[in-house]
Amino acid sequence: MDNPNLRKEVDSRRTFAIISHPDAGKTTITEQLLLFGGAIRQAGTVKGKKTGNFAKSDWMEIEKQRGISVTSSVMQFDYDDKRVNILDTPGHEDFSEDTYRTLMAVDSAVMVIDSAKGIEAQTKKLFQVVKKRGIPIFTFINKLDRDGREPLELLEELEDLLQIESYPMNWPIGMGKGLEGLYDIYNERIELYRPENYGGERLIPLNQAGEIPADHPFRGSGQYDQVLEEVELVKEAGDSFDRKKIARGEQTPVFFGSALTNFGVQTFLETFLEFAPSPYAHKTETGEEVSPYEPEFSGFVFKIQANMNPAHRDRIAFVRICSGTFERGMDITLERTGKKMKLSNVTQFMADARENIQEAVAGDIIGVYDTGNYQIGDTLFEGKLKVAYEELPSFTPELFMKVQAKNVMKQKSFHKGIQQLVQEGAIQMYRTYLTDEYVIGAVGQLQFEVFQYRMKNEYNAEVVMTPMGHKIARWIDPEQLDEKMGSSRNILARDRFDQPLFLFENQFAERWFADKYPDVKLKSLM
Ligand code: GDP
Repeated sequence: MDNPNLRKEVDSRRTFAIISHPDAGKTTITEQLLLFGGAIRQAGTVKGKKTGNFAKSDWMEIEKQRGISVTSSVMQFDYDDKRVNILDTPGHEDFSEDTYRTLMAVDSAVMVIDSAKGIEAQTKKLFQVVKKRGIPIFTFINKLDRDGREPLELLEELEDLLQIESYPMNWPIGMGKGLEGLYDIYNERIELYRPENYGGERLIPLNQAGEIPADHPFRGSGQYDQVLEEVELVKEAGDSFDRKKIARGEQTPVFFGSALTNFGVQTFLETFLEFAPSPYAHKTETGEEVSPYEPEFSGFVFKIQANMNPAHRDRIAFVRICSGTFERGMDITLERTGKKMKLSNVTQFMADARENIQEAVAGDIIGVYDTGNYQIGDTLFEGKLKVAYEELPSFTPELFMKVQAKNVMKQKSFHKGIQQLVQEGAIQMYRTYLTDEYVIGAVGQLQFEVFQYRMKNEYNAEVVMTPMGHKIARWIDPEQLDEKMGSSRNILARDRFDQPLFLFENQFAERWFADKYPDVKLKSLM
């Protein structure tokens, strides 16, 4: 039973995340995109951190201090006939497993790179997660208005460090103070940075020979001949444009531009929207796929934001809709427990006043107010659809703390709190083999702060956390476990499923172990 209306709505969705290292320009480009979509009226709206815009909201204390808000978790706007959902991937001190999990809820990703810095640590980590999913990855090389590295060198770095083919959709004409424009290979035109210097037109179409009209003033500039040569070279030496590879995330279309001066951003947006996929069919636990056009609603929880309102201990469960249409007040089943629930208290993320009349379909995100029913990875479905979506992966933590109850009399609430927060996916937990101490693991510092805050406020259990120097967790096959393998250079522990792992201080310690026990395979999570 195909519903043409639903199909049309779903096909218009473009749901993606921007992955980048802090300061590459993610916020700046996001704002430009929102401006194009008419979702905000002035730049500087997204980063409430700097303006204190969020002071009047009642998010939990940590969020207030950091200015994270549920309103910037998902940003939705319309552009042409597309409905765009940008999912935020908090970085820096706000980095957490939720940042990774958000990448499980998108259909494509945009990688923003600083042209002077190239690929940085956090970009690489996030890239690996996206790459494993095999979804399209688009690259925006930013800050062209500053002197950066040679474009060719940046493309080579993409291939070397990330092992992905690249195809330049456009090519810079100069950079920094000498930036003149972009040779837009894909759209066959030149986009001038300062059109006023060359007759006023910003976009100059190219003829079949790939040239601009003979009488155009830009022809006289020294840079024109140079860019023709460069583009010729790139076309000959580089990979050819391959839609299939792009769709599988094996080739990344690369765009150059400058987010701050809003140069090349609109071209990027329009070309991106043309290529970025509409919502995919999602895989279930049993490997089947649910079509996004399936009329009955289903979705999964990929993130839980806790304690939005300390007085009520409310949380918001972020649900990626995988099929059908969400309607306010609809009845759904929570797959894990079989419990029937009504979806009434729900936030949608349309960034303007039309919020209430929009319908959400496959590809969209809704925020469900939760009093403790949901866990990360949960599936929700309508009627008889009865699906369970694939489990979300766990990510290898890189920060570890020993944790104890501050008050020994509160052991019971301490244990209960830890159990529940671990189950919910807020933090990972291990116990050391020898001393049976609790160790918690996270991918970002924020997770520890949220953990400490929630233990105190929700479970009335103050905790003492002691940082450990260990940064690398590696799992081993239980059959290969020998307690003698523990040493001063590592800590042997078990995870909550009783699987053994080692915590190493650094790569040196890991290598030392690998040399000593060459037959023991050291595994990481995703
Ligand atoms: P985020 O941490 O990735 O969100 O980065 P921001 O968008 O906050 O940008 C970091 C800094 O780089 C800010 O000072 C921006 O003004 C600046 N910036 C962003 N894009 C550009 C650009 O295209 N050119 C220049 N010169 N600076 C930029």
